Amino acid sequence: MSDTIEKVKCLIIGSGPAGYTAAIYASRANMFPVLYQGTQPGGQLTTTNEVENFPGYPDGVTGPEMMLELQAQAQRFGADVRDGWVTKVDFSGDVHKVWVNDTKEIHCDTVIISTGASAKYLGLESEQKYLKLGGGVSACAVCDGFFYRNQEVVIVGAGDSACEEAHYLSKLCTKVTMLVRRDEFRASKIMANRVKNTENIEILYNTETEEVLGDGQVVTGVKVKNNVSGDTHEIPATGFFVAIGHKPNTDIFKGFIDLDETGYIINVPGSSKTNVDGVFVSGDAADHVYRQAVTAAGTGCMAALDAERYLAAKEG
Ligand SMILES: Cc1cc2nc3c(=O)[nH]c(=O)nc-3n(C[C@H](O)[C@H](O)[C@H](O)COP(=O)(O)OP(=O)(O)OC[C@H]3O[C@@H](n4cnc5c(N)ncnc54)[C@H](O)[C@@H]3O)c2cc1C
Repeated sequence: MSDTIEKVKCLIIGSGPAGYTAAIYASRANMFPVLYQGTQPGGQLTTTNEVENFPGYPDGVTGPEMMLELQAQAQRFGADVRDGWVTKVDFSGDVHKVWVNDTKEIHCDTVIISTGASAKYLGLESEQKYLKLGGGVSACAVCDGFFYRNQEVVIVGAGDSACEEAHYLSKLCTKVTMLVRRDEFRASKIMANRVKNTENIEILYNTETEEVLGDGQVVTGVKVKNNVSGDTHEIPATGFFVAIGHKPNTDIFKGFIDLDETGYIINVPGSSKTNVDGVFVSGDAADHVYRQAVTAAGTGCMAALDAERYLAAKEG
């Protein structure tokens, strides 16, 4: 443990669109924010080649490029952007304590949590290969569905989100094949019925992905197996969507902040406040519904404004 404890007015954990937007607002409000980037500087968008739906980029932009611009914008106003992983917190007392890389201890007047969430994947080698190549594997229909319009795609998943994403894709794609591992949906009846009643969605029950097929650059199909009969067959497709859930990056906050049953931070509706005074949340760490860069940025702004108002009220 280090013997020097740093005192910080506003600590921001995470460097996705939420964290950098919070940093832009907090630095312009003279809160001298310190932002820890974590192991994924720039956040989830650094794993995608094309972002076409963030306002202000009429020709689209690559995820890494956009995130470097957000970082530069935050630094322009003095945000202190640092390497480092927050390993532990203690929000039980009056002072909010945070440890970075298990060594550095920081005492914070306010903390803005922007640690995001990670999409779950099946873990197949072929899936990961085309994901890394940006060649047709995606965990976000709203983000990437547009690239597959008038094409045939496959989606894996059986919950409400999977149904919502399959339905979204059905409006863009000629055919959507939905792979459901069991003999029924996990989704609510209303969501499952919506999918069942959509003409261009074919549902294959008891079906699992064996391999994502491709030509070495892009996805060309999916090899699937019926887990009852053992039969395999190939489905032609240019896109492979995985909708089996997300894991919010909130483990370190367990016991200090109210989380829902899947680990998302519970915020006071309509604000970024958590159940702990002076601790705010923004972005995907609290959002299992929208999960978009622009909504993450919007809540990053809210968190900085809420933190600023909290400090102003405290300072009288
Ligand atoms: C492949 C892909 C493509 C996408 N395409 C689009 C798109 O086109 N348009 C769109 O709007 N959205 C898109 N999204 C969704 C978008 O990326 C997310 O909604 C958005 O990035 C969420 O922002 P965030 O700031 O909440 O968190 P994230 O971007 O998830 O960032 C989280 C940050 O927290 C840091 N962190 C986590 N834990 C710690 C810790 N303990 N200590 C320090 N730092 C920590 C990480 O290093 C990271 O920097 C896409 C997502 C994916 C995966």
